[in-house]
Amino acid sequence: MRTRPGICRRKARYASEDAALEVAEKAPFPLRPYHCELCRDWHLTSRTKGMRLPRFEIERRQAEKIKGS
Ligand SMILES: [Zn+2]
Repeated sequence: MRTRPGICRRKARYASEDAALEVAEKAPFPLRPYHCELCRDWHLTSRTKGMRLPRFEIERRQAEKIKGS
């Protein structure tokens, strides 16, 4: 994903995808980590369309399926 410099500066940076995922997991809305070409760190985006499902969301969905059956 392309990041404009202004957006990069405003956004929180994470040193790794795992660090970004940890924050995404606690957020009340869906967030996806992506690697930034400008700062070479990770940011979070709420534009989740076309993004792969993070591990914690897959686990959450599986847990809900088990609960429902
Ligand atoms: Zn950046």
